[in-house]
Amino acid sequence: MQVPLTVRDFIDRAESVYPDRIAFVDEPDQPATPLGPWTYGELAAKARAQAAFLDDLRVPVGGRVAVISQNSARLLTSFFGVSGWGRVLVPVNFRLAVPEIQYIIEHSGADVVYADPALKDVLDQLDVTHTFVLGEDDQMFASEAAQPREWANPDENATATINYTSGTTARPKGVQLTHRNLWLNATTFGLHTTVSDRDVYLHTLPMFHCNGWGMPYIQTAMGNKQVVLRQVDGAEILRRIDEHGVTMLCGAPAVISMVLDAAAEWDGPIPGRDRVRVVVAGAPPPTRTIARVADELSWEFIQIYGLTETAPLLTVNRSRTEWDDLDGLERAKRLSRAGVPALGVRVRVDGQGEVQAQSNHVLEGYWEQPDATADALDGGWFHTGDGGIIDDEGYVVIADRKKDVIISGGENVSSIEVEDALMAHPAVREVAVIGTPDEKWGELVTALIVTDGSDVGEDDLVAHCRERLAGYKLPRRIEFRDELARTATGKLQKFKLREPFWKDHERQVN
Ligand code: AMP
Repeated sequence: MQVPLTVRDFIDRAESVYPDRIAFVDEPDQPATPLGPWTYGELAAKARAQAAFLDDLRVPVGGRVAVISQNSARLLTSFFGVSGWGRVLVPVNFRLAVPEIQYIIEHSGADVVYADPALKDVLDQLDVTHTFVLGEDDQMFASEAAQPREWANPDENATATINYTSGTTARPKGVQLTHRNLWLNATTFGLHTTVSDRDVYLHTLPMFHCNGWGMPYIQTAMGNKQVVLRQVDGAEILRRIDEHGVTMLCGAPAVISMVLDAAAEWDGPIPGRDRVRVVVAGAPPPTRTIARVADELSWEFIQIYGLTETAPLLTVNRSRTEWDDLDGLERAKRLSRAGVPALGVRVRVDGQGEVQAQSNHVLEGYWEQPDATADALDGGWFHTGDGGIIDDEGYVVIADRKKDVIISGGENVSSIEVEDALMAHPAVREVAVIGTPDEKWGELVTALIVTDGSDVGEDDLVAHCRERLAGYKLPRRIEFRDELARTATGKLQKFKLREPFWKDHERQVN
């Protein structure tokens, strides 16, 4: 027998096994009225109501529904209310600038767009049939009794979400993740991080970012309370862990640094001592940060590695019994590697040092970009664009990046996109955008610029970019140069430009 693996399974299980458990605690401090708390029975009913509402709007199976929102219970509900009945959820990065959002909405062909009240102005600037402000949701969750039309032919290979991600091109690409991709990513993730029905999950990671790495699905299936955090803040994270008895959270290394800073100022015992597991990915975490998580927080540190295109789970690194007798620093060193392949994942490093993977979580394709899809999957392996090695214990170590991407605070920034924005300024003749190491953000977006000799300042250039790009993509460091290193054929030699900034670093990514 084969039963299609769809994201409906997660909410259906929660409703049948844990109907009376609290599903979420919504962010109390947000512009819309917080929802709930709802039980899983109520969450399932509201997801049905949302699906029924989309029926009324005549959004077909396969139709795209975009949500532009910080973490919120409404976005969490949409993971099921939209994809659960065969439509495609497009969760959009709320930090993006208006032209970036316009591109994504247009490219995805969304029929419906929901936006957080703080972002509602963007709705007037979109060419979309149905737009709604989250919170003014009499319509979104029309009536609890509403029954949607069943998805006639549930298909595990149908696209469930499209996640736009910045890569090596000037425009972001839409990563098509199928129900099967998401299902297997979420359950395999749950297996390796031992998600049980006794967990309490804190949504520190943005849900739009590769669907919160699968947590909205697996925590729902296990009937766990999900505490929604709208804005990352170290002290607030500690406070919520304390208040709600949180056992698990995920985040980029920059988030962990914020928590460590807040812990240093914290009065009294650190919340979640010997209870919390923190899963870290997005950039290579420094060994020292890993050691501090054990020493100063007494939380378990787990690292995973992957990309939006791989749903994301490829490798996992969790302390194993063989390391029990090691001292803290030795264990931290071993944990600083990206990890070993998760169940069902195959990883190799090709002759050029690129990490490549095969797994059931690897994307179906880039939405309406068959050429980019063929390149990414060339030879039957997914090309990560990351440079690394597999060490003699079989652990993947990410040491380098083949692709022209900067990772700042765990978010990808395409160098080309920032270069394009800067080149649009009349005083800019040449530009190279590179990542430079930074203690807090991992990498800083750094622009090396040759001007036409006019008196343009850093502030002018940043203000110019701000109209086109999200805040986290703006150049944080600008240096003016007389010329930029190029090859004989005129190609920028970025490795030469990066060299002075990275020369004291063992790894060429941070
Ligand atoms: P994204 O698609 O935005 O999730 O970004 C994926 C990229 O983040 C990967 O290609 C890597 O460059 C980087 N990344 C993710 N996890 C790790 C990790 N554990 N160590 C090093 N780099 C990572």
